[in-house]
Amino acid sequence: MVWWQIVLLVIGCIAAVGLWMRIVGAAIVRLGPPPKLEGDSAPGWILECRSCGLWRPAGETGIIRRYAAGEKLMLARCSACLKFRWVKLRRGPGPEGMRRIDDRTNAEIWPETLHSGA
Ligand SMILES: [Zn+2]
Repeated sequence: MVWWQIVLLVIGCIAAVGLWMRIVGAAIVRLGPPPKLEGDSAPGWILECRSCGLWRPAGETGIIRRYAAGEKLMLARCSACLKFRWVKLRRGPGPEGMRRIDDRTNAEIWPETLHSGA
């Protein structure tokens, strides 16, 4: 093997690695963050504090619950108690019952009507 063959081999290897990295990099970008769900991520579900009774639409808390059935008890930080409490994930009372005034923004919240997602 003469010197220029070695040089060509090295250049070829670098090019191959570069191409491979580009393919892998594109795949990683494509696999990246999942597309954001439209609308309410947990339509009809609420999280209710077992200690103080405060509840929030589960979708607001980032919980994703679709096509699910059954209540669930979980440990979460209650924004009213400011402590970790047992909160119940359960079906909300429906669009009219879900209506409430947000204590911080004083805005009416209608989770099931705001978000048209099924
Ligand atoms: Zn609470």
